Amino acid sequence: MEIKERIEQLTEDMIKDLGDLVKHPSKRGDALPGKPFGEGPAAALAEALRIADGMGFKTKNLDNYCGYAEIGEGKDIIGLVAHLDVVPEGDGWDTDPYTLTRKGDVLYGRGVSDDKGGSIASLYTLKLIQEMNIPLNKRIRVLLGCNEETGSKCMAHYNEVEEPITIGFTPDGSFPGIYGEKGMMNMSCFSKNTKILSMEGGFVSNAVCHHCMTKVPANAVDEAKLNDALAKTPLAGFTITREGDALVIDAQGVSAHASTPLLGVNAASFTMQALAEAGMEDDFVDYYNEHIGTTCDGAGYNLKLQDDYGELTLNNGIVRMTDGAIECTIDIRVPVTYNEEQLRELVADRLEDEKGKTVINAIGKPLFFPKDSPMVKALQDAYVKVTGDTESPILVIGGGTYAKSIPGIIAFGCEFPGVDNHIHDANERLEIRELKLQVEIYTEAVKNLLAL
Ligand SMILES: [Zn+2]
Repeated sequence: MEIKERIEQLTEDMIKDLGDLVKHPSKRGDALPGKPFGEGPAAALAEALRIADGMGFKTKNLDNYCGYAEIGEGKDIIGLVAHLDVVPEGDGWDTDPYTLTRKGDVLYGRGVSDDKGGSIASLYTLKLIQEMNIPLNKRIRVLLGCNEETGSKCMAHYNEVEEPITIGFTPDGSFPGIYGEKGMMNMSCFSKNTKILSMEGGFVSNAVCHHCMTKVPANAVDEAKLNDALAKTPLAGFTITREGDALVIDAQGVSAHASTPLLGVNAASFTMQALAEAGMEDDFVDYYNEHIGTTCDGAGYNLKLQDDYGELTLNNGIVRMTDGAIECTIDIRVPVTYNEEQLRELVADRLEDEKGKTVINAIGKPLFFPKDSPMVKALQDAYVKVTGDTESPILVIGGGTYAKSIPGIIAFGCEFPGVDNHIHDANERLEIRELKLQVEIYTEAVKNLLAL
């Protein structure tokens, strides 16, 4: 029987099983004995393993961190790495987020795409491969994690207690696939001496600081010049208010993800730039402008780097003043071909001077498989065979996907190019047509990986 035809027959079962996963609100809860992420994720895992048992797969629950379903024989393992935890539902839903709701060809519910949809697509891929009765020279394992959204401790546990995955993918990104994910470098920068009286901006380190309140002594700047300098910036808005002997600058920027900082407008960075232009002589204003600035390219830390797959980006997300000292978070996304040693060497003599200090908190490895590597080609061929789409480019991204939490794999689907499944948002959706295509692409992909 043709794969398409068999998927057609199984569609109602897939939707029913997806509904059984969606009904468990598997957002992170308080840890319970034997349930490290609380009740919800453990219940979703039990349900998914029940579905997998029903299909006749070998299953295992790894201490409610994650579980897996497996078929086949052999030393090597092809991994399909999906997750069952979800982000909180939030407001604005037109339907109950934890009841799979079907309207025409569209399914609604928290997790229908991210990543309970990916989990169901993976399990049905296993079923189709099993039904083909082809000799399996490798094991094929669907991993079902319970903590992707809040730290991927599920896969850290897997890596500790289980055999490594040889090759494979996670259905937790986008088609036609992501063969590179930039490295991460997190730093904090601190003032030594500053006349700034208070400064507070941003909420998270991985987004552009979109709003910042700064208080400076009125006699430290020329107010008219400050007004002119702020007016020249791309800030969405600003006000300068007098408070006794101080000026309070309220700067409104534009938010954006830290991996694409130039899509936003950094309220803190443009405030600092304007303060300097308004004549403020201050160690930390100088240090900030020399090291962070408004260019988002890392030049101030000697990190203006680029390779064939992209350029380095730098983002200041949070600014806070505590006990008279300002601290700024710095989130850097590093081109995929640079390693930790090179970064440390480049930045070494730019970290500290008499005006300020920066410390490196962590440097995370990039993920990169050459475009023409056998695994990437196997996945691409499957995508093109099923969709006929030869136009959409496979991607290198600045963000990180689940693929980074387990060696050997890349993100491959399950979101299609140009489609918005409203992941992490109200009214998360998935078209039934997309679910069927996912299973078909993944089945072809696993066939290709088996042939390697
Ligand atoms: Zn996800």
